[in-house]
Amino acid sequence: MIFENTLEFAKHLDLQDPLHKYQDEFIFPKVQGKKVIYFTGNSLGLQPKRTKAYVDEVMNDWANLAVEGHFYSEKPWWDYHERFADPLSKIVGALPSEVTVMNTLTVNLHLLMVSFYQPTQTRYKIICEEKAFPSDQYMFQSQVDFHSQNLGIQFEDAIVEIKRRDGEHNIRLEDVLAKIEEVGDELALVLIGGVNYYTGQVFDMKTITAAGHKVGAYVGWDLAHAAGNIKLELHDWNADFAAWCSYKYMNSGPGNASGCFIHKKHHNNAALPRFAGWWGHNKERRFKMEQTFDPIQGADGWQISNLPILSLAPYLASVDMFDEIGMDALIQKRDAITSYLEFILHEIDKEVDSSFEIITPSNPTERASQLSVLLHGEGRSLFDYLMQNGVITDWREPNVIRLAPVPLYTSFEDIYQFGQILKAGIQS
Ligand SMILES: *Cc1c(COP(=O)(O)O)cnc(C)c1O
Repeated sequence: MIFENTLEFAKHLDLQDPLHKYQDEFIFPKVQGKKVIYFTGNSLGLQPKRTKAYVDEVMNDWANLAVEGHFYSEKPWWDYHERFADPLSKIVGALPSEVTVMNTLTVNLHLLMVSFYQPTQTRYKIICEEKAFPSDQYMFQSQVDFHSQNLGIQFEDAIVEIKRRDGEHNIRLEDVLAKIEEVGDELALVLIGGVNYYTGQVFDMKTITAAGHKVGAYVGWDLAHAAGNIKLELHDWNADFAAWCSYKYMNSGPGNASGCFIHKKHHNNAALPRFAGWWGHNKERRFKMEQTFDPIQGADGWQISNLPILSLAPYLASVDMFDEIGMDALIQKRDAITSYLEFILHEIDKEVDSSFEIITPSNPTERASQLSVLLHGEGRSLFDYLMQNGVITDWREPNVIRLAPVPLYTSFEDIYQFGQILKAGIQS
């Protein structure tokens, strides 16, 4: 499509956008009485207006029913999490039995590593991306440390990072595949962020998963920036496991519950170790208080504790909204709006004497909704200017502004207006 940097054109795109009406389903913070242009949905999604009713329902059931709410609520609490199986499986491309919700992201990745990282003296290496999200780095190190006493392995040797080539901002698929090949029979696990949090690069999960399996490793994905943002086909890609948080693109509220995927092929594998709890026990027999653990045959079998229903309520509100829209419509809008943002950035760059570059891949198949802009000049002061003028973006050291237009609530007009504010900011 040929874009134009005019208000009229942006408004015209909004009129044609079938998802435009969803902007009004969200609550926007205000700066100087005006609703902000919100580009940090990759960090904490906005609150949907419908969420409060889901939370109120639980509060009311608790008030009116107390313990009886477990079985007699509008949505009974004892199996509340099962309401996610269907809609969430569509979001991540899985069978309903392959997904569950519980805990938080890093906790779930640790639990999944209990099952899928079982190092031996000869096969103990983990492949991850260079500069992985810090929580993931600490997780890898502590997992290796945990096994180091028995195996004498060290994390400096066990953790193999895939590097960017000199002068390049993104990791090449060929380099990932070559590294998997090179580590070969020493490779126990590949665990990479499906969408890189810093650059917004999307990895070819299907190809990488197949390559990991070929050398006999397990392959899992941290989908913090991918769930609710990109098309996922976890079952067909044959990923062993994955986990994501729900508070970024899934708009479920600060620090909220995670989701995970465990491929069907592992559901009945009794040899796979796991940390167990009563919520993963045979559902029909859970309240018989039996001594021997009999796991549910599915991702729910990895559950441990009874679930925080007040956290799940906003997550369910969000998942219901995604189900109403469908990932295909969301992705179509995402690509259009991200391309429009890219266009506007290039236009402003031409109009003013600035110096920045977009480090996110320009190929739409290798990116999702985020554009990361590397500033060569002013940096922090420009970020502050944007904040003061109602544009909420995200600052990352040393000099990167991350912009995530979110198809559910960013309009084309927002993007146009952002361009005008950016231009004024560079010129001020
Ligand atoms: C946001 C994010 C996390 C956050 O982990 P929590 O356990 O939810 O705090 C982890 N990994 C990646 C890649 C992230 O982007």
